[in-house]
Amino acid sequence: MLSNLQKQPADRIIGLSALYRADPRPEKIDLGVGVYKDAQGNTPIMRAIKKAEKQLWNEETTKTYTALIGDGGFHTVMHELILGDTVDRDRVSYCATPGGTGAIHHVLELVKMTGTGGTVWFSDPTWGNHLTIAKHVGVPVGKYGYFDAETCAVDFDKMMADLNGIAQNDVVVLHGCCHNPTGANLTKDQWDQVADLIVAKGAIPFIDIAYQGFGDGLIEDTYGPRLMAARAPQMLIAASCSKNFGIYRERTGLILAISPDAETNAITQGNLSYVNRQNFSFPPDHGARLVTMVLSDPELRADWMAELEEVRLGMLSARKKLAEALRKASNSDRFDFIADHRGMFSRLGLTEAQVDRLREEHAIYMVFDSRLNIAGVTEDKIETIANAVVSVIRT
Ligand code: PMP
Repeated sequence: MLSNLQKQPADRIIGLSALYRADPRPEKIDLGVGVYKDAQGNTPIMRAIKKAEKQLWNEETTKTYTALIGDGGFHTVMHELILGDTVDRDRVSYCATPGGTGAIHHVLELVKMTGTGGTVWFSDPTWGNHLTIAKHVGVPVGKYGYFDAETCAVDFDKMMADLNGIAQNDVVVLHGCCHNPTGANLTKDQWDQVADLIVAKGAIPFIDIAYQGFGDGLIEDTYGPRLMAARAPQMLIAASCSKNFGIYRERTGLILAISPDAETNAITQGNLSYVNRQNFSFPPDHGARLVTMVLSDPELRADWMAELEEVRLGMLSARKKLAEALRKASNSDRFDFIADHRGMFSRLGLTEAQVDRLREEHAIYMVFDSRLNIAGVTEDKIETIANAVVSVIRT
């Protein structure tokens, strides 16, 4: 039986990490996988998370199951963090999942279960897993223009023209902030126009928010999701706590599904419970509980916010410095967009052959589409990276 299985394509980003680990050159630089790293190249456990873990060890008296949709306290704090008071809770259903990826998978399953057959539209480009999960779940997929390869900014005209062709009950996936892989994001005015168009078409916005607090600020990064929630009668959100709480391996994510009314919401909630039950029954609790503790305790919350802000400002500063170094090395403004991008990534607009040369000749690892993890751009490496990039675009 197992011999009937077809070989699956390897995940290219995970493959890149393996290549990096196997590279014996001591000067190698990892700008690949999407994990935050500090100046020493470590991915630290955040202070507030560590404190909450100690407290939990002392206080937790049972490891029995939580609810199928996870703990209610987690839903409450995450609703407040992402949506504030933009939508009444009697229209919102929740479902804790293993990571943001689990939330994306379940949302797409839920979309399929509605039976409308609507197309799920993704930005071109988008996070590679979006497309493979959609294919795996079996929903029809469409792509809308998003990125201008020349300017490395959002191609808003193309985006609006493509979205103008969507149908009622289609689903439009939008990155809540910090677009992966491009780093190019919608302005407030553009969010406004996209929201109007989606609502006018009777389509459903599906927001993937995996980097809240990494862009313009913790609340600023919810501008799009909140605007959309205030206007759209129905909406889906997949949230990840992996990055902004630094709890990658705890697998902590949440679905928030907004229904048009409380009656529909009760059915939506039941369906979310069902989806968890059929896939793996109860969701993981440890990470969700830590997030709940951190967000509910004023002292832990303040410390978490302060550390997250340090992370955000560090990445912003690296953006400015790298753009500056590239301006000097290339004697042009070609890479100035790096300072305008937000979040952990920027797509540099290099060819795959140039990315290969960076890896082979300079031991600099970035994703094949020239996505660079800005958290890997530490002070001591900026000049090396800038010079290497310029050398591969010149020769
Ligand atoms: N969405 C996007 C756009 C992401 O980049 C990621 C992480 N790479 C996720 C969702 C989900 O992350 P996780 O499953 O680790 O929470």
